[in-house]
Amino acid sequence: MDRIYFSRPYLAGMEYTNINASLATTSWHGDGDFTQRATQWLLERTQARGALLTTSCTHALELAAILLRLGPGDEVIVPSFTFSATATAIASRGATPVFVDIEPRTMNLDPACVEAAVTERTKAIFVVHYAGVACDLDAVQSIADKHGLAIVEDNAHGIGAYLRGQHLGTFGTFGTQSWHDTKNVTSGEGGALLVNDLQYLERAEIVREKGTNRAVFLRGQVDKYTWVDEGSSYLPSDLLAALLLAQFQRFEEIQDRRQYVWQAYAEGLPQWADDQGVELMHVPADRDQPAHMFYVMMPSHADQGGLIGHLREQEIIATFHYQPLDSAPAGVRLGRTPEPCTVTADRASRLVRLPLHAGMSKADTTRVLEAVSSYRTQA
Ligand SMILES: *Cc1c(COP(=O)(O)O)cnc(C)c1O
Repeated sequence: MDRIYFSRPYLAGMEYTNINASLATTSWHGDGDFTQRATQWLLERTQARGALLTTSCTHALELAAILLRLGPGDEVIVPSFTFSATATAIASRGATPVFVDIEPRTMNLDPACVEAAVTERTKAIFVVHYAGVACDLDAVQSIADKHGLAIVEDNAHGIGAYLRGQHLGTFGTFGTQSWHDTKNVTSGEGGALLVNDLQYLERAEIVREKGTNRAVFLRGQVDKYTWVDEGSSYLPSDLLAALLLAQFQRFEEIQDRRQYVWQAYAEGLPQWADDQGVELMHVPADRDQPAHMFYVMMPSHADQGGLIGHLREQEIIATFHYQPLDSAPAGVRLGRTPEPCTVTADRASRLVRLPLHAGMSKADTTRVLEAVSSYRTQA
């Protein structure tokens, strides 16, 4: 029996062509022709005002933290239920991530907990759109407005995801994307910063280019470039942009294939879920999810391991997800947790993600559906 993997990068067809074309140029460093074309695609797709490719989503989050001038003594509110990168980017500036709990139905940060966590030190809220399902941005925005806070959207899951027709990552001051090979489109490693407030764009280019004004120099706007600010090296090689552009060029195909699997799960599992006391992933009506992930919420922690083990016996790889950051060793040392994140702890201990990638066949999807449906939860 062939193994059905949880996630696999998908060769969409243009990858070799683009990489060969990039290799044939004499310029492999960042911000070449492929970077420009990939950036243009991203701008058109998301309608963000500005966009910069970065070496990862983590680096895009770090870039956002630098642009917001976060530093020691500043606090940034983040959900406990997220990848470590969201908090690492804050801690890397010496600022304090403040962990808040999530709403059970969407797994996104709970606005009531955000409001309760605001202090005079709070500078920003880093939200995550789990599974590319938008968090409650209206409520978060009104808290941010009331207290003068910036919003950064960690939209690593949400390329092709919308709230009321607007692409995620374009609501906050900044949005960040990931092209890691577990995400919908990938260059192996990679990311992007979406810049929605254009007053930050010039400094964003500088920070991303080792603190130099090389970007304005390349556009011919100054006659030499020099060190003007703090920064790092956050720009990917044009070779990686060539790979990324290949995936962008097949985005509709990749998404159609992923949506097929997602819809099959959503349509095929409700009866089993009802019978077994399982909750399926929930998508509120005003949000379009990007088929990044399909998860089920088992009735107990034992059933989390139970379902994963049951599927593994049939060569199907399913998996749990984030372990709460508030109780992680670095979260305890570098963060602050005003209220215990009990919903996060409970839900993280019961969540199971099913295989979902563009290379899955209809037969694979059917096999997963049958295997899941044959699992019986412990009474
Ligand atoms: C994958 C992921 C990241 C990190 O992305 P990289 O590109 O690997 O740095 C950050 N946040 C979330 C929510 C993610 O899922």
